[in-house]
Amino acid sequence: MTNIILLGPPGAGKGTQARRLVEERGMVQLSTGDMLREARTSGTEMGKKVAEVMDRGDLVTDEIVIGLIEERLAGNHGSGFIFDGFPRTLAQADALGALLGRTGRQLDAVIEMRVDDEALVDRITGRFTCGQCGEVYHDKTQPTAKEGVCDVCGSTDLRRRADDNEESLRQRLMEYYKKTSPLIGYYYALGDLFTVDGLAPIEDVAAAIDGVLKQAEAGRG
Ligand code: ADP
Ligand code: ADP
Ligand code: ZN
Repeated sequence: MTNIILLGPPGAGKGTQARRLVEERGMVQLSTGDMLREARTSGTEMGKKVAEVMDRGDLVTDEIVIGLIEERLAGNHGSGFIFDGFPRTLAQADALGALLGRTGRQLDAVIEMRVDDEALVDRITGRFTCGQCGEVYHDKTQPTAKEGVCDVCGSTDLRRRADDNEESLRQRLMEYYKKTSPLIGYYYALGDLFTVDGLAPIEDVAAAIDGVLKQAEAGRG
């Protein structure tokens, strides 16, 4: 199976596409954002430490997120991983390469989801998710069929993230440009980079990603 990274700024559509790949291909989504949000509700020491950092829009330390990924890789014996929101720094990218190598796995494709900065404010301020099944919605582009009720599981537990406001987004974008965007060059140099148009409708982005997966799988032989 295929291991991929979805790379892009906050609101690019990484989570939306990862969920589809899980459903259609049985891949395993590893979202460090989801793991960290879980940790903060668990009330552990680590959870308390990261809550403030996340709400500000800063990155959590490499040590913490690399530890989370290491745990999940050890607990999942198959492959077919979607790294969603990880790596976000060069140190994380190096650590992931080492972890994959050590466990006899490879990276097949890094998919850069390219979007306009201007589109991101709308994407982020309109986002809400189902607290039960994790489905991702948007006030304008992806509303629920029935107001207040999740289409997938029928739950009424629809939530907005504490960091999905304009001020925090500005800081998250700054972190993205300073620390994460160098990964585009890094993976290009490794020969792993593919780029899709993240501004296209969700189905078109999905089709483009399917095309990349086909190419990556063929390239591997
Ligand atoms: P988005 O979906 O908006 O890109 P995520 O859910 O991936 O956001 O991440 C939310 C927050 O969690 C980030 O702003 C950051 O504080 C923290 N975080 C998530 N993944 C990482 C990571 N790989 N390294 C450092 N911090 C992370
Ligand atoms: P990320 O995980 O990269 O932060 P999400 O998948 O959570 O991004 O998407 C951010 C918001 O944009 C969500 O409200 C989602 O419904 C919406 N969205 C995702 N992809 C598209 C798209 N191609 N066109 C329009 N809206 C989208
Ligand atoms: Zn649901």
